[in-house]
Amino acid sequence: MDHTKINLLVKLQHLDNQIESIVSLQKGLPEEIDALDEDLVFTSRQIESRKKIADDHLKTRTHLHEAINECKNKILNFKEKQTLARNNKEYDALSKQIEYEEKEIAQADIKLQDIVHAIQRSQEIQKKGRLLIAENRYDEITEDMMPDDVLHQQLEDLKKQIDQKKEELESIVIETAEDVDSLKKKMKAQRLLIASEAKRLLDKYDHLRSGVLNNAVVKLNRNACSGCNTRVPTNRHTLIVQGGFYLCESCGRIVVHERLFEEAQG
Ligand SMILES: [Zn+2]
Repeated sequence: MDHTKINLLVKLQHLDNQIESIVSLQKGLPEEIDALDEDLVFTSRQIESRKKIADDHLKTRTHLHEAINECKNKILNFKEKQTLARNNKEYDALSKQIEYEEKEIAQADIKLQDIVHAIQRSQEIQKKGRLLIAENRYDEITEDMMPDDVLHQQLEDLKKQIDQKKEELESIVIETAEDVDSLKKKMKAQRLLIASEAKRLLDKYDHLRSGVLNNAVVKLNRNACSGCNTRVPTNRHTLIVQGGFYLCESCGRIVVHERLFEEAQG
C-alpha cells in the first residue's frame, strides 16, 4: 500500500485545521455584530417614530394656538364694532359672529386637550415601563413602555458596542490576513498535488467536508476514531501504525496515526 498518498491528504487537513483555528479567533464576532446592528436599526426606528409623533403634536399645537389668537382678535374687533352699532339688528349680527368665533375657540381647546391627554398617557405608560425595569421584569415591557431616556441610552450603548466589536474584529482580520493568505495558497498547491497523485482520496475528503464535518481526516485516539469516538477494530491498528488509513465505520472519517499529523506539521 502506498502510504505517501495519505500523507498528502493529512497535510491538506492540517492546513485546513490551521485556517479553522485562525477563523475561530474571530470568536463569532461577525455574527455578534450582525445581531447588534439589527437591534440598532430597531431602536433607531422606535426613536424616529416617537420623534415624528412629538413633531406632529407640536405643529398641531402651534397651529391651534394661532387659530385661537385669530378668533380672539376677531372677537375684540366685533365687540368694538358692537359699541358703534346703530341698531339692534347690527348688534345681534355681530353677537352671532362672536358666538361663532367662541365655538371655534372651544373646538380648538378640545383638540389641544386631546394632545395633552395623549402626551400624558404615553408618559404614564413609560412610567409603568420604568417600574418594570426597576424590578427587572423586562419580558413584560412593551415597545411603548420603554422610557425615552432609556431608549436613547440603549441606542448610544449599541453604537459603542458595535464600534468596539468592529474594531476588535478588524484588528484580528488584519493580524491574521497574511497567515490566512499564505495558508490558502499552500492549500491550493496541496490540492493540485493530491488531484494528480490521489484523486480518489481528494474526492473522499471533499465529500466528507461537504457535509457537516470540518475534519475529514482525524487521529486514532485510544484505539478509537477521534471524530466520533467509535472503537477501531484491533486488526486495523497495525495498518494505522504502519502509516495507512482506516475509514471509520460509524462516521466515515479517515482515521490515521497521530504521527502523520506531526509529520504534516514539520
Ligand atoms: Zn468515526
